[in-house]
Amino acid sequence: MKLIKVEAQGFKSFADKVVLNFDGGVVGIVGPNGSGKSNINDAIRWVLGEQSSKALRGNSMEDVIFAGSKTVKELDKAEVILTFDNSDHAVSVPHDVFTISRVLYRGKGGNEYYINGEIARFRDIKEIAMESGISKSSLAIISQGTISDIAEASPEQRRGIIEEAAGTSKYKARKIEALRKLETTEEALDKVRTIISELEKRLVPLRKQAEKAKIFIEKSNELKSVEIGLLVEDLKFFSDKMTFLNNELSSVNEKKDELEAKLSLYSASIKENSNSKLKLELDADKLQSDLSKIEESLHQLELRQTRINQRRQDILNGDIKVTPEEKIETLKQELSENFARINHYKAYEEKAEAEIAKAKELSLNLDKELFSLASTKTTVSNRLETYKTKLQVLQDHKNNKTNLYKGTKTIVEHSSLFKGYKGTVADLIQVEKEFAKAIESILASALQHIVVDTSETAVKAVNFLKENRGGWATFIPLTSIQPKDMRQDHLMALQGQKGFVALASELVDTKEEFSVLKRFLLGNIVVTQTIEDANRISKLLQLKYMVVSLDGDIVRVGGVMSGGAKEDNQNNLLEIDRNISEFEKAIPKLMEEKSQLELKEVELKNKKQESISTINEWSMELSNTKSKRLDLTDRNDALKVQYDAVSSQALEFSKTDEITDEISKLTEKRNEISANLRIKRTRISSLASEIAPFVSQKTEVENSLYELSKNHSQFINEKNKVEFILQENQKRLTEHYQMTLEMAQSYQKLEIDLEEARVIVKNLKQDIKALGNVNLDSIQECEEVEERYNKLKENENELSEAKNTILDAIAEMDKIIVNKIQETVDIVNKEFRYVFQTMFGGGDAQIQYTDPQNILETGIDIIAQPPGKSVKNLKLFSGGEKAIIAISLLFAIIKAKPIPLCILDEVEAALDEANVIRYAEFLQSLKDKTQFIVITHRHGTMTKVDHLFGATMQKRGVTSFFSVELAKAKELVVEENN
Ligand code: ATP
Repeated sequence: MKLIKVEAQGFKSFADKVVLNFDGGVVGIVGPNGSGKSNINDAIRWVLGEQSSKALRGNSMEDVIFAGSKTVKELDKAEVILTFDNSDHAVSVPHDVFTISRVLYRGKGGNEYYINGEIARFRDIKEIAMESGISKSSLAIISQGTISDIAEASPEQRRGIIEEAAGTSKYKARKIEALRKLETTEEALDKVRTIISELEKRLVPLRKQAEKAKIFIEKSNELKSVEIGLLVEDLKFFSDKMTFLNNELSSVNEKKDELEAKLSLYSASIKENSNSKLKLELDADKLQSDLSKIEESLHQLELRQTRINQRRQDILNGDIKVTPEEKIETLKQELSENFARINHYKAYEEKAEAEIAKAKELSLNLDKELFSLASTKTTVSNRLETYKTKLQVLQDHKNNKTNLYKGTKTIVEHSSLFKGYKGTVADLIQVEKEFAKAIESILASALQHIVVDTSETAVKAVNFLKENRGGWATFIPLTSIQPKDMRQDHLMALQGQKGFVALASELVDTKEEFSVLKRFLLGNIVVTQTIEDANRISKLLQLKYMVVSLDGDIVRVGGVMSGGAKEDNQNNLLEIDRNISEFEKAIPKLMEEKSQLELKEVELKNKKQESISTINEWSMELSNTKSKRLDLTDRNDALKVQYDAVSSQALEFSKTDEITDEISKLTEKRNEISANLRIKRTRISSLASEIAPFVSQKTEVENSLYELSKNHSQFINEKNKVEFILQENQKRLTEHYQMTLEMAQSYQKLEIDLEEARVIVKNLKQDIKALGNVNLDSIQECEEVEERYNKLKENENELSEAKNTILDAIAEMDKIIVNKIQETVDIVNKEFRYVFQTMFGGGDAQIQYTDPQNILETGIDIIAQPPGKSVKNLKLFSGGEKAIIAISLLFAIIKAKPIPLCILDEVEAALDEANVIRYAEFLQSLKDKTQFIVITHRHGTMTKVDHLFGATMQKRGVTSFFSVELAKAKELVVEENN
């Protein structure tokens, strides 16, 4: 590579453009002091990237810009262009000729570099300087007065020179770069390893967690695939069982009711009959005691009368001899007494007939009463049955929600899934019966709208319906709705209007939290008495509001009307609860009424029996008395014949005696009491026999009831169990699997035996429970950490491979550096001794390692022995000697490792003339491989250069160059010397 042109303008004293063309060989630049010769040296250094203003002999970089002179104004820009011949391609610029240039503007700071006129980076310029070997610290540019620095330099600085000569700077720079890379690689490796070890610590528990979570998911899926089918089967089975149990229970209940009714009837009958029997027994006892007394008196009287009668019979039979008068008198007395008896009999018969008639009438009345009671009882029983059936139907509707639309029903049944669920509109409002029709008519299907807290809950519920094909429903989010009102003037107009009842919102009750709902649904609707009122008031309000009559007829906004007769529907949502509670209250009352009627029936039947006994007894009394009377009448008729035969006297009844009379009266009394007593006794014994079956029936019913209640509680227990299982299964399905039964049914069917499925489910649940707390997020987290860990591991491998590669490269570079240094030192030493001996005319010199064991870092010492001298310390040599030693080393190095360009600024200044000649001859001997630009004042040098440039300052302060001949050059030097 050759420097073939230097162009400069504005640089230091080069106010005018200077152009120096070179053609290799040795070029000398001569000129007077201060003419600007060394500025060429500076200019070349500057372009090659010199950063130190001091090295350029200034204080700041701007000092390189032409500062002006007395005649020429200062310039604002310094520019230097170097042109190289690169036909040997020593530099990797892809051109045979290339330029590098540097420009600096005053006041702007910064430097601009160009390669071939194109802007370039500082490091590109440095690269070229390095490649070509013309870098600032090299031997290529030796500034004025610095040649002896080579001799006086420290071993380390000298090593730098050798390194440059050996061309290791490239390797050193690479090594530095490699070391930097090594450092950053190691830092990165440390960082990566720190993170890796942290991740490893994290991964250990995370892997366990993820593993657990995977097992959990796997088992849960397995569980789901079996459990849903099992739940469906169980729900079906237990629902059927529930229906069966409900049917059984209701038939048990029916039976129980029936038995209880019987029991109460029997108990009442027993009680009533026992009471009657007791009363009758008391009466009978009293009668018996009366009867005994009467019979006692009667017995005494009859004894006396028997004696009288015996005497009378003896007289009449002629057993006792009496006078005819006495006989007639006896007959008379007998007849008279018999007549009295007959009359008594007659009177008694009349009494009996009266008693019979009275009893018959009573019996008739009792029949009537019993008949009417039976019909009342039937009515009450029928009503009771009807109420029971209706209650059952309403409860079924309520429990099975059969009166709800599918979507509403689905949400109501799964309300536990929605925290913000409040209820259906119908659940949340209460209406008095008289307003129910109007409100029902207004709300219609809105009664089934579902009230929720927020629109988010509604969205969740809608999605649930979609996912489970659960039907369609309408939702009212409380936080979204606004209360509706009537305009104040319209409200005023309504007040006092005939037929105006109230605003619909005023007719329903709600909890405080739902008052907004009430006003949202009903706040602007008017309720009137009749459809006529509705029509009138609607017009009054200019058809702007819905007006509804108490019958539920509607005049809508705008005047459209709907109305008519609706079927009474007890299932309607607003009234179902009230209807249920009304039936629940009415049924016990009817049952009480029925049992009262039954009691009354028993009482009446008892009375009837009593009257029948009365009739029977008195009938018997009547017939007995009649027959006695007839017997007595016959006997009396015979006595009368007897009397008529013995007495012509008309029969006049003598006064009957007191005994006979008393006997008759007592007899009558006795018979009456006897009859009564028999009636009572008959009734007592019939009651006893009536009570007996009641008692045994009661015992039977009680036994049955006992059995039934055992069954009942068994059914209830079983029902509770089934209910619990159903609830749990339903809850599991909805809360755990988020499924309705319908959805679950269309899910995977169970293909294994139920019991086997049950065992699998139980085991899986146990397995899942045994897993304890599971973190499902850990799977993804673990995957992420694992991925990161693997990447970092790869990264670590790459980095440690890179580190090894760098270490290998460093070792390789160290090897190259050591080889090159050793090779260079060896060659330089050979040349050094030769040049030194040539320059000094003898002696010896060599360079040595200060630390031969560590060639990579060793310093370089110069051992120089001019002929006859044994000075060891270089500092002790004269300036000229130091210069010769340095020049010898310089030439030795250049000889050993030729450089393309070498600028030598007055390096030979301290040499004597003979050595100047030798110096110049060495230049000539080296010029084939190295281009020399020498700035010189010395004649000897001038004579041995190939081309000479003279520098002058024709304009003061401005340098100009021109080619000169030797003679002219001498003149210039002489000029200077003068
Ligand atoms: P010598 O033979 O004494 O070493 P020289 O020919 O090498 O001298 P240089 O050192 O190249 O001379 O040039 C120094 C001259 O350049 C001085 O006259 C100095 O005033 C001038 N100079 C340096 N910098 C500037 C500048 N920025 N503007 C104008 N002139 C400058």
